[in-house]
Amino acid sequence: MKKPKQYITTTLPYVNADPHVGFAMEIIRADVYARYAQLRGYDVFFNTGTDEHGNKIWEKAQEAGLDPQTYVDPFADKFKGLIDLLHLSSGMHFVRTTDAHHIAAAQEFWKRCDENGYIYKKAYQTKYCVGCELEKTDSELDHGRCPVHPDRELELIDEENYFFKFSSCEQFLKEFYAQHPTFVVPDFRFNEIKNFVDGGLNDFSISRLKSKMPWGIPVPGDDEHVMYVWFDALVNYISTLGWPNDLDTFETYWTEGEPIQYAGKDNLRQQAAMWQAMLYAAGLPNTKQVVINGFINSGGQKMSKSLGNVISPYDIVNEYGAEALRYYLLRHMNSFEDSDMTMEKFHEAYNANLANGLGNLVQRIMKMITSYGVDISDINFDEDPLSFHHEHMEAFDFNTVMNEMWRLVGDMDQFIAEHQPFKKIKEDEAAAHKDLHYLARELSRLAISLYPFMPETAQTIQTCLTEVKLPDEPLFARIEK
Ligand SMILES: [Zn+2]
Repeated sequence: MKKPKQYITTTLPYVNADPHVGFAMEIIRADVYARYAQLRGYDVFFNTGTDEHGNKIWEKAQEAGLDPQTYVDPFADKFKGLIDLLHLSSGMHFVRTTDAHHIAAAQEFWKRCDENGYIYKKAYQTKYCVGCELEKTDSELDHGRCPVHPDRELELIDEENYFFKFSSCEQFLKEFYAQHPTFVVPDFRFNEIKNFVDGGLNDFSISRLKSKMPWGIPVPGDDEHVMYVWFDALVNYISTLGWPNDLDTFETYWTEGEPIQYAGKDNLRQQAAMWQAMLYAAGLPNTKQVVINGFINSGGQKMSKSLGNVISPYDIVNEYGAEALRYYLLRHMNSFEDSDMTMEKFHEAYNANLANGLGNLVQRIMKMITSYGVDISDINFDEDPLSFHHEHMEAFDFNTVMNEMWRLVGDMDQFIAEHQPFKKIKEDEAAAHKDLHYLARELSRLAISLYPFMPETAQTIQTCLTEVKLPDEPLFARIEK
């Protein structure tokens, strides 16, 4: 039988800094959904990569005295390294916007939009924030500066540029949103983008003069211009599938695979409106769903080097392991709203819910099963996966699913406390075995639903159950501070 298809992607992080914990959360959440789809029998195409062109990179490379390609290469390796670091699905696709096939795809995409009448040239004057790589209207500025990048001088652009007819896509977007009531998850973000489109769309510039900023993909048929970084980068979602050359793969995973895109809240406009309008202009099918994450703050403030409150995913993985990081981001960060994370809170949650919680529970149950010789060989360890969490999984509400699973951990602890199989074994062996058989079954159910979230932990629990043995080492050793 032919497997159903699922496409899922993260946004492509910009390579002017090391991977931060917010992106770790995005890619881990996408991985959870990818693994979940695999469990349900889907053939999954999972994409991530790096966004490598634009003014900001050009500036950084110049500061470092490097040519831009040499500057971006090590960053791409670092981001690729997240696949192993964060226990992401193997077989993930990694696209770089400097890949030759991506460059060719972006140029072909431009040509299609041009042929369909969505590109024109005009004189352009604007204030531009290189930090955001976005133009800024006066109403978006705070004391004449970008509110996100108050340390930066705005750039004044005054040149002839190519423009994308965003305004001509307004009606299409309104109808598309009306026809797809769950296109953006969560609802409040969908309302935000609907309001933006209802407010009227302005055409946006999609090129830069090469003489001022050469680090971009050449505009087809015009040597003097390179593409605006967003126009180029957004095409990665289909260039990664081999579009336009490999139409088989494109149709399999994009057209039929109902693509899902994960993004942070600062990407709402680009993913849910600009990119959808671009696909429409090029005559290509739209994304199925865009899922928008909140930001992670620390101690009530935005993370920043100057405040010294930046949390590094690398430090956490080194000290606590990738499974612990996945646990924390998936359970303790709100599925959609902004959340707050500090190392103190992380440490507390680790000891309480992983070392003393799940880790200790597995240890106790397997210890009793092995030392009392309980027969659990009749348990079916491949029960319908996630049968009790479908609704929340489909709504991308992962922290609710995690809470459900830890409620089960609590229930099992309570069952042991009430039934005391460790005492019963002396008086009524059969009853103690029955209790432990029940616990083994519950633990197996937990491991199956835990798999997309904490794959190695889930596999270790499964191995302990099928081979009837204790974990080789504690799942989560208690860490004292
Ligand atoms: Zn900015």
